Amino acid sequence: MPKEKMLLVADADRIQDYLFESVNLKEIMGASLLINRFNKIAEKTLKAANYQVIYSAGGVVRLMVEGKEEARQAAGVIENIYQSLTKTGTISFSRAIPLGADFSKANLEVERSLRENKDRGGSPVLGKNEGRSPAMLLSWPYLAHCTACGLRPANTTEWVRYSLTEIKSESLCTTCQAKREAYRQAKRRKEKKKEGQQKNLTLFYPELNHYLNEIHHREDIDLENPEDFGDVGSRSHPSGYVGFIVADGNRMGQKLGKCRSPEEYHDLSQKIIDTTNQALSKAITLTFDLNHPQTLQKYEKEGEYLPLQVLVMGGDDLVIVTTADTALPLASLFCRLYSEISPDLSISAGVVLAKENLPFLISHELAHALLKSAKKSNYTPGKIESGGLDFQVITASNALQLENTRQEMTYFNPSHVNSDTAERLVFTARPYVATAGPKRVTLQDLLQTVAQLKKAEMPRSQLANLYELLNPTYAAGSSTEFEKACQHLDREYYRLVNRLSVKNTWHKLEELGECLGQRSDGHLYIELPNLTPLERRVLVADAIEVYEFVPVEWAEDNRWK
Ligand SMILES: [Zn+2]
Repeated sequence: MPKEKMLLVADADRIQDYLFESVNLKEIMGASLLINRFNKIAEKTLKAANYQVIYSAGGVVRLMVEGKEEARQAAGVIENIYQSLTKTGTISFSRAIPLGADFSKANLEVERSLRENKDRGGSPVLGKNEGRSPAMLLSWPYLAHCTACGLRPANTTEWVRYSLTEIKSESLCTTCQAKREAYRQAKRRKEKKKEGQQKNLTLFYPELNHYLNEIHHREDIDLENPEDFGDVGSRSHPSGYVGFIVADGNRMGQKLGKCRSPEEYHDLSQKIIDTTNQALSKAITLTFDLNHPQTLQKYEKEGEYLPLQVLVMGGDDLVIVTTADTALPLASLFCRLYSEISPDLSISAGVVLAKENLPFLISHELAHALLKSAKKSNYTPGKIESGGLDFQVITASNALQLENTRQEMTYFNPSHVNSDTAERLVFTARPYVATAGPKRVTLQDLLQTVAQLKKAEMPRSQLANLYELLNPTYAAGSSTEFEKACQHLDREYYRLVNRLSVKNTWHKLEELGECLGQRSDGHLYIELPNLTPLERRVLVADAIEVYEFVPVEWAEDNRWK
C-alpha cells in the first residue's frame, strides 16, 4: 500500500532575535548568512534523500513526506542542521498533515499546527515536549557577558584592531562567535574569488552584482559592502545617520494559501522571490545611480564600498541598512517597482532614520510598527496593486512609541463629543502609497517636492515657520468650527506663500502647495476617500521631517525611472 502524502513545515524560533540581537553589523550579517546556509543545506540534503522540498528560505522549510516515520526522520535532519549552524538556535515543526484532496486546506492546517506547537514550545514530530526556549539569561555577576549580544555568557575573548592605535578586547558567546566566523568565512571567500582562485561563491547580495553585470555588459562587477554601521553613517548626509528599511509583501500568506497544489505553491513563492530580487536590484541601481559607468566606477575603487547592506532577504521579507539620505527614495522606488514587475503582487515598507549608534533592535522594532501602519494603505488603483510606505526620523525628543507620536499629530473636531466618530485633522499624511491613484499622495510626491524646494534654496526654517503658522491648536481651536479651521489653514498658507514670494522673489513655496495640492483640489490637506469619520491630512510636517535627508538630485524626474 502506498504511504500517505503529508505536508510538513519547519520554522526557526524567534528568528528576529537571532538575527538582530547583536549590536554589530558583522554578527547580524553572519547570522543572516547562517540562516541562508541552513536553508541551502537543508534543501540539498532533503532533496538528496528524495524528499520533495516546496520552499526553503528565511529559516522556513516546507516539504512533502510520506508517512509519519519519514516526517520524524526529516525533522531530525532539519533540526540537526539548524542547531549545528546556530549553536543555541531552536526550530519548531508542525504536525505532518495528510495532503488529502485539498492542498490549500492542508496548508491552512499545517500553519495552525505550527502556531500551536510554537505557543506550546514543543515539537511533537520529534517526540519531545520540553521547553525549547533559547539560552537562559545568566545573571552571575562574575561571568563575563558577551559584548555583542549581552544575553549569554562569553566564552572567548579576542583582540580586535579598530584603527592604527585602538585595539579593543571583545568577549563573545558561542552563538555570536559562530555568527562572526560565518561572516569572516564569507569575507575570506570573497578575497579568494578576487585573487581568481575560486569562482561563483556566495556574496552578501549576489543578485545586485548579477543585475549590474547584465546592464553594463560586464562579468566582473563585485561591489564591496560596509563592515559596520559606522561605515554607513560616515557616507550619509547628514553624516552619522543611517536608514533602516523593513519590507514585507501584502497578503502573501493569503495568496499562497489559495494555491491548490505543492507545485503551484512552489511557483508562486518563486515568483515572489524573483520579483523581490528584480525590484530591489533595480531600485538600488537607480538610488545610487549605478546605471552610469562613472558612478559605478566610484564605488568600485580600491577601498571603496557601496554603503548599503541587505541584512535579510527571505522571499518577500526584507531588511536593509543604507545611508539616511537614500533610505526613503530606495524604499519608495522598491515598492513601486515591485508592483510594476508583478501587478498582482505588492509590498509595503517601514523606514526609520536614526543615529548610527542607536541599538539596531530598537530601530528594527519601530520599523516594524511603521511597516504595520504602511500596510493599512495598501490598495489597488485600477489593474495594479500598490504597497504602502511609512517612515519616521528618530530624534532625541520624539517618542519611540508610534501610536503616541501619531496621536499627538491628530486633532479632533471639537463639536463632536465622541472622538471615535469625530472628524479629524491629522498633521501628517503618513502612511503614503507607492503607486499613484486618485486622492492619494505617493512618498515619491513628497520627496520630489522637498527636493525641488531645496533646489530653489528654500531653507528648512521657512517651512518650520509655515508649520508654526498652521499651529494645530490654532487651526482646530475649541471655539472655531472645524470646517472654518480647515479653511483657515488654507488661507493662512496662501497668505504666507504670497508674502514669501514677494520677499524672496521665489515661488517654490507656491509649487509646494500646488504639488501637494495636486491630488487634493488645491487644499493644503487631503481628504481620504471612503473614510469615516472624515479625515484630512496635512503634509507640511512630513516635509519638515524629511527635509535634511532628501538630496536635491531627487527633484529630477529621471532619477525615478
Ligand atoms: Zn553573544
